[in-house]
Amino acid sequence: MKKHASAYVTLLLLPVLCGLALGACGKAAPGNGDAPPASDAPTETVGEDGVKLSNDASDFVLLSEAVPDVILEIRYYSTYNFVGDRIDGYEEPVALLTKEAAAALKEVSDEMIAKGCRLKIYDAYRPQKAVTNFMNWALDAEDTRMKAYFYPDLEKDVLFPQGYIAEHSGHSRGSTVDLTLFDMNTEKELDMGGTFDFFGEISHPDYTDITEEQYANRMLLREVMLKHGFKPLAEEWWHFTLADEPYPDTYFTFPVNSDSVKK
Ligand SMILES: [Zn+2]
Repeated sequence: MKKHASAYVTLLLLPVLCGLALGACGKAAPGNGDAPPASDAPTETVGEDGVKLSNDASDFVLLSEAVPDVILEIRYYSTYNFVGDRIDGYEEPVALLTKEAAAALKEVSDEMIAKGCRLKIYDAYRPQKAVTNFMNWALDAEDTRMKAYFYPDLEKDVLFPQGYIAEHSGHSRGSTVDLTLFDMNTEKELDMGGTFDFFGEISHPDYTDITEEQYANRMLLREVMLKHGFKPLAEEWWHFTLADEPYPDTYFTFPVNSDSVKK
């Protein structure tokens, strides 16, 4: 969401916490002789603001196939998100990522499974249409139905000017994921001292007015993600992008559904 949200044109303590027996923790390119109608062929366009848009999902995979141990809680398919509705472009409660990002996340998952934790995914690839949905919502001052849960300390009209919502999101490039750790022993998420998509300083990973255990849990997530090639975001403890992302300049537009990546 935020930070990462156009006018869319044409388009340690830690081992204890997390396990150690103790506990806490596309479309394919058309085949020969099987060419789809021209209208279905992958296309690239350039938005009014100069951003490169693409509907080519051929390098994307279904995260539940690439990393079968993940738990999916796709908030923008649900109504429990800062908007309060299902978000445009989320057609199934699935997660898509580039194959490079999914492979790195598999390494993260395998390491955490050995420590007693699974990865819980809130969001992954996010279509540009969804980001545009966020923008339109941000500009509608009247709709504050989820304020109490996600932005109780902010007036809605600052969300866009202050950068909480933006015209484009790194998630649309396909190599960014929002996640937390789920402790297989307690069958609960690790306590991160803050909740996904909360708009405020408490979401900054280095926020210190939380308990030592909460801070350690954030650092556990951060360290394992960085170890396997992701980079963090200063404003959101749950958000990571593959540092060597394969499409650093392309924002994708195909919807979130399993058909998008069927070969
Ligand atoms: Zn994010």
